[in-house]
Amino acid sequence: MTPAELGWLRRGACRTSDAELFFPLSPTPGQEARAKAVCSGCDVLADCREYAMRAGETEGIWGGMTPDERRRARWAVSLQ
Ligand code: SF4
Repeated sequence: MTPAELGWLRRGACRTSDAELFFPLSPTPGQEARAKAVCSGCDVLADCREYAMRAGETEGIWGGMTPDERRRARWAVSLQ
């Protein structure tokens, strides 16, 4: 993916958030919910989710989804 194709990332609601919220080394209670709350108000949620699903991102919250949620969604799509 080229930098131009990731241009949407500059418009992400998380651009001013602490990266630890989206990529925690040690998740804390409520961390996932707080990250998802940021995503829920993000203008580029669909772009972000599509990228993470297509790229197979295995870490972090992308597009309001955890790695496990993305893995399950990919698995569900593979059964169709
Ligand atoms: S959907 Fe979430 S992770 Fe993706 S750019 Fe928006 S705020 Fe950031």
